[in-house]
Amino acid sequence: MDTLTNILDDLADHITVLKELGQRTIEMDPQTVRELTAPVVPVNQQKAIPGMSAKKRTVRKREPLSKSVLQSSKLLSPEERLQELREIETETNHCFDCGLCKSRIKPLIGQGNSNSPDIMFIGPAPDAEDEKAGKTFSGPAGDLLTKMIEAMGYQRGDLFLTNICKCRPANDRPPLQEEIKACTHFLEEQIKIIRPKAIIVLGAHAIKGLFQTQSRSTSPQGAWTQYHGIPVMPTFHPKYILRFHNDAEGQQKQLKSSVWRALKAVMMLLKRD
Ligand code: SF4
Repeated sequence: MDTLTNILDDLADHITVLKELGQRTIEMDPQTVRELTAPVVPVNQQKAIPGMSAKKRTVRKREPLSKSVLQSSKLLSPEERLQELREIETETNHCFDCGLCKSRIKPLIGQGNSNSPDIMFIGPAPDAEDEKAGKTFSGPAGDLLTKMIEAMGYQRGDLFLTNICKCRPANDRPPLQEEIKACTHFLEEQIKIIRPKAIIVLGAHAIKGLFQTQSRSTSPQGAWTQYHGIPVMPTFHPKYILRFHNDAEGQQKQLKSSVWRALKAVMMLLKRD
């Protein structure tokens, strides 16, 4: 099973690289396509993680996120925002809505400034480094993100950093569509509470995941789009950039330039250039 998982992870990574380099088609054997598109057995009753309560979380009734909800919903005080975020954290701790509850040690809902920060960074899911540190965007990728943030004239604590899925996928593979779908409501609630002025979404998986509920195609990196009325700039994930550290053709440099152009566009929007 581990071998199969590793093969699928490598395949997903390879396809992501091709896509981010602009390739839009791939040749596949028809039998492989049939097998890959066979119905997936739904995750129903997941076993409780040792030490964690198996009781079903109480899901609060949530208004669907929309531009009008963002504009008209009550502006919360800083204390109310923290309280709401703590409630979301408690809900994720008791959430067994997708298979990621089996691989996580603890869900991570993100951290930073929750009072209408200039920017919310959104990645696909926490990884092993994040889980170990108990903080989203840790390890070398987190260090690179910190450098990006500081180059924009901010500190990490000025902004809010989170992921679409709150639990770490096994072997740090990208989250599956059904996992993203199961978890997106937590992110939507966070956006409604935090009200960032702009969103920077990191990497193809997060871009696809963020927009899947709006059934629209993903936006290419570096081009403005919107999420419920909030300007969104998609760009490369720091972890993806770091993959090219031994790259003799300067691809990492190209990727960094491309990311910097995207960050500059956000700075212009926020009048920080
Ligand atoms: S990833 Fe999200 S939906 Fe899945 S178990 Fe964790 S908190 Fe629940």
